[in-house]
Amino acid sequence: MKDEIPTFTDLKRDVIDRGLCALCGGCTSFCRENKLHAIDIREGIPAYIDESNCLKCGICYMICPVTHELEDRLEELYGTGTGTVLEVYSARSTDEAVRGVCCDGGVATSLLHYLLDIHYIDGALVVKKMKGGRSMPIIATSYQELLMCAGSSLATVPNLDEIKYYSTYETLLPELREIAYGGLESVAITGTPCQTKTIRKMQSVNILPSGAIKFVIGLFCYENFSFDAISLRTFEELIGGRLSDIEKVNIKETMLITFKDGSTKSIPLEKLEGVARHACVKCTIPYANIYADISLGGLGSEEGYTTVVIRTENGKRLFEEALEEGYIELHPQWCEKKKEEVMQKIEEWTEKKGKR
Ligand SMILES: Cc1cc2nc3c(=O)[nH]c(=O)nc-3n(C[C@H](O)[C@H](O)[C@H](O)COP(=O)(O)OP(=O)(O)OC[C@H]3O[C@@H](n4cnc5c(N)ncnc54)[C@H](O)[C@@H]3O)c2cc1C
Repeated sequence: MKDEIPTFTDLKRDVIDRGLCALCGGCTSFCRENKLHAIDIREGIPAYIDESNCLKCGICYMICPVTHELEDRLEELYGTGTGTVLEVYSARSTDEAVRGVCCDGGVATSLLHYLLDIHYIDGALVVKKMKGGRSMPIIATSYQELLMCAGSSLATVPNLDEIKYYSTYETLLPELREIAYGGLESVAITGTPCQTKTIRKMQSVNILPSGAIKFVIGLFCYENFSFDAISLRTFEELIGGRLSDIEKVNIKETMLITFKDGSTKSIPLEKLEGVARHACVKCTIPYANIYADISLGGLGSEEGYTTVVIRTENGKRLFEEALEEGYIELHPQWCEKKKEEVMQKIEEWTEKKGKR
């Protein structure tokens, strides 16, 4: 029937079975946190675990970043294309320990460090790299944990699945609130565009209490990888080494890989489409993470610096304070001309991703 609310069955047909699932973990985190236990991640993908538990509330379909539900609302709030741009900078952390382990300039880690220091957040949902190129989402509650999680993880990480401890559907199940928060009341999150889009969808319908996720740090993203045996072999052939030999990865116009022995290899992103997730190659969510408070990428910045796009007043305040308090510093030659050049690159890559 036409007017029926789309449920997980529809999500499975429209998104998952078509290989378009972003693996953000939003749908399962919502279902699990609310003790509905209808769906969960099974064999790496959202699936029914007990269909008879499904309330057919339609929330999973609604908050999925791939479906078009709630898109008008998001567009109103965050725009389209390159999104709302309040300011653009190239900056880096002033902390040498951060600079030694970060991906680009360590801005993400130092902003989170500042947020923890001023007790604006109790924890940050970030990604911890594991052996063999694997990663897992964790809530970092200390500077040491943030340091441990600095850098970029290339494999798909269902970050939002970790939010299960912090999310609740208040209108329906307000009594779960205390359990749901598990002691932490405000968190920041780092996420790729699909993840931040899910968060904003959830917030726009008040699924997450607005106070739970206080700050969204978005990472630019052209594509992501999930290394099954075949794609791992192809990837390792392309880079001419093992995934476990990689020390660091920077993604700008190319993927620049630094191996543990100090050697480097630059691979055009186009060449990696064969090993990118099918869902990423088909992804039309804007490249420069328009749903974040602050979006960060390597594109347009010199080595050792992060490109920073300020998108909300919240983001502006945090960046200016962190700058003033000496957690981060601007590139010494930063100027209007450079800002225009960076925006041009962002527009170019936004268009490129949108056209794939
Ligand atoms: C999958 C992926 C694709 C990217 N693609 C591009 C691109 O095409 N162009 C571009 O300019 N920049 C891209 N970036 C962003 C870039 O790699 C840096 O993350 C960004 O510039 C911030 O650098 P930093 O040194 O300030 O961050 P850091 O201080 O190193 O901190 C990075 C933070 O992000 C978290 N993080 C790492 N991996 C993930 C992940 N998979 N999901 C969620 N959080 C994560 C870390 O735990 C850490 O807290 C991508 C990042 C990722 C993870």
